[in-house]
Amino acid sequence: MHRSDSALVATTAQLHAHGYRLTGPGRTIIAALHGAGRYTTARQLYEGLRGRSVGLASVYRTLELLADLGLVRRRAEGGGETSYLPYGAGSQVQLTCTRCGQVRAINASICPTADLIAAAEAASGFAIERLVLDCSGLCAACAAGEA
Ligand SMILES: [Zn+2]
Repeated sequence: MHRSDSALVATTAQLHAHGYRLTGPGRTIIAALHGAGRYTTARQLYEGLRGRSVGLASVYRTLELLADLGLVRRRAEGGGETSYLPYGAGSQVQLTCTRCGQVRAINASICPTADLIAAAEAASGFAIERLVLDCSGLCAACAAGEA
């Protein structure tokens, strides 16, 4: 199974857990968002879905719902637009290139995160089930000046 597919399944399951049932267009929008692999605005998603009977209003509504439920993150763009990026399934480290916009996620199990989780639990009283580390910087190609 492709990595974005498992994240898509996790998003769908969490929507169900919140009592939402996905319509066909909702499924199409979420699949497109997961397939994009980078921060994407509602308009960019909509333009990629031309001819799929998905309206711009439902793209906005679906993305806002996902963000309100904590399933995707919002980022404010210039010109008042908002872009969205889904959280993946499981704990992960998300790396965003500030130059080319590429987003990569790597499994957090490669990092020694146990101390961080324990400290955050001690400070908050939360029983943490999932950790997402948000890192930004230059991807390998941009750092090498190739992109
Ligand atoms: Zn880059």
